[in-house]
Amino acid sequence: NLLAALPERRGLDHLWRSLPDARLVGGCVRDLLCGAPVHDYDLATPEAPEQVMALLDATGIKVVPTGLAHGTVTAVIAGRPYEITTLRRDEETDGRHAVVRWTRDWAEDAARRDFTINAMSLDRNGQVHDYFGGVDDLAARRVRFVGEASRRIAEDALRILRFFRFDARYGGTVPDGEALAAITSDVSRLDALSAERVAGELLRILEGPRVLDVVARMMECGALSRILAAPHLAPRRLERLMATGAPPDAILRLGVLCDAPDTGERLKLSNGVRARLDAMRQPGFLTPDASDDDLRRALATTRLDWLMDGVWIAQADRLGRADPAWDALRARLAAIPHPVFPLSGRDVLEAGGVAGPGVGAVLRVVEAWWMSEGCRPGRVACLIHLENAMAARTV
Ligand code: ATP
Ligand code: MG
Repeated sequence: NLLAALPERRGLDHLWRSLPDARLVGGCVRDLLCGAPVHDYDLATPEAPEQVMALLDATGIKVVPTGLAHGTVTAVIAGRPYEITTLRRDEETDGRHAVVRWTRDWAEDAARRDFTINAMSLDRNGQVHDYFGGVDDLAARRVRFVGEASRRIAEDALRILRFFRFDARYGGTVPDGEALAAITSDVSRLDALSAERVAGELLRILEGPRVLDVVARMMECGALSRILAAPHLAPRRLERLMATGAPPDAILRLGVLCDAPDTGERLKLSNGVRARLDAMRQPGFLTPDASDDDLRRALATTRLDWLMDGVWIAQADRLGRADPAWDALRARLAAIPHPVFPLSGRDVLEAGGVAGPGVGAVLRVVEAWWMSEGCRPGRVACLIHLENAMAARTV
């Protein structure tokens, strides 16, 4: 019984007392079946959302209407959220936009889901309900669309990217032929998606397993150049980064894979992420022979995390494999306290002789000297340098 060992069993049993027909659905059933860790417990139920709210309310379970329009409410038990969604079916209207209706039919709800391994449900007795052969596909490492691949892609082109994400995690060495053929011929449908949805899936693909395989497949069928600027794609460079043992960081991998200056804008990434990608396109200047003074100088002008990106990229570009000397460089960099220039404009004013815009200029001259000394001079040494320089009128 898949439910027996669950630490969340008590919370779920609590829910099942008010909603005995509800079942776990989607990713959590898939992950329970293959023994992978489960992060979200999503449930579905035949009851309409208002009724779900009322039933939970009656047993004193806290419930929040988090997405009533989609039929979703969130129950909170012992601080843990459980999303509960009313069973749905799609009704075609003008052939372009599907209208969602509630249903009491579990098979109809399963038919809307993307892949057979995502279309299973698990009831309170621990019984798995498998409408499209998901159990077998999971065991055989097959990621297959529910129904006809090309029709499911026409309904929602994001499923192209979802296919690659799930195939990397649950698929075998050869992807489903029907899926790949449909994706290849319909890859232009990706253009219709919002940048946010594309970026969300792309980053999940890049942080996931078997990145080099997925990237190769996505390039082969034209999906990757549809969402990133093709002339800037560098899969061999990503391969070299992976060989260094760099952490599974989606942004680092993206920056190495695609060095087009407008990637962040194209994917509508946050300003912070865009700045990080910009920093990655600067040539990395730290190598294992850097002195501690070099490291302090680098830290005085750039953020530690951006410097670390630069070190991984330099190691990928110069060496392309794991190496203790580069690991030692990163360890030294992480251990050095962030140097802070010990003077401010007030110190210059108190030394006298300059005012207004001259203050900043003097400060920068002293800071340049401080940097040339490896950021080691303390406040007193800097004040002495300031006074000597002013007296000699070199500033
Ligand atoms: P993960 O563990 O990575 O979150 P998941 O299976 O929970 O995987 P979600 O994106 O959270 O994936 O979606 C939850 C479920 O909703 C899926 O398992 C699938 O059944 C359904 N689903 C989500 N997005 C789509 C889609 N675009 N088309 C069809 N079904 C979808
Ligand atoms: Mg999920």
